[in-house]
Amino acid sequence: MKKRYAMAVDTRRCVGCNACVIACKTENALPDGGFRDWIVTEVQGTFPGLSMEIRSERCNHCSQPSCVSACPTGASHVNEGGVVAVAKNKCTGCKACIAACPYDARFVHPGGYVDKCTFCLHRVQKGKLPACVETCPTRSLTFGDYADPDSAVTRLVKLRRHKVLRPESGNEPNVFFLS
Ligand code: SF4
Ligand code: SF4
Ligand code: SF4
Repeated sequence: MKKRYAMAVDTRRCVGCNACVIACKTENALPDGGFRDWIVTEVQGTFPGLSMEIRSERCNHCSQPSCVSACPTGASHVNEGGVVAVAKNKCTGCKACIAACPYDARFVHPGGYVDKCTFCLHRVQKGKLPACVETCPTRSLTFGDYADPDSAVTRLVKLRRHKVLRPESGNEPNVFFLS
């Protein structure tokens, strides 16, 4: 069966420590000011019934990726396991994909091309976990094959209440936030 990589982000476990952000920056040698993942803290409800959600966010590796449709050179493409990737050598830095992504998941690398999360495919292909997943001290992040009904990510999404961000975009995200 064709693989469909996905991630479950447990917002109840995340403490907002930023270890995932630092791990990604180091693993992928990201430039100053460039991030492939980031933390969002959202306060919900009205006083005194307030609750806080902390989310580790990144590219959603959408099943209907508007960034890929918008790219005029084919640099943005769908790779193995549904991972949305950028071929540096084909990217002109035109930013059409940045404008088309509803999740603000991309940035311009000083090298003149657009950069974003790759689900650490270079690690996954060697049987390792993405750097952020491996580093998270609270095990908030679960990565795996969503096409496999027995994978941990599929089971978590099936069992737990969850949401995707901006479902109205029609992009069909593959990062699930467990609440
Ligand atoms: Fe949350 Fe884990 Fe990232 Fe820390 S490393 S911010 S606990 S997801
Ligand atoms: Fe593309 Fe943005 Fe979806 Fe990632 S989150 S696949 S960059 S549209
Ligand atoms: Fe960064 Fe890899 Fe995690 Fe994506 S999967 S946010 S590239 S560490």
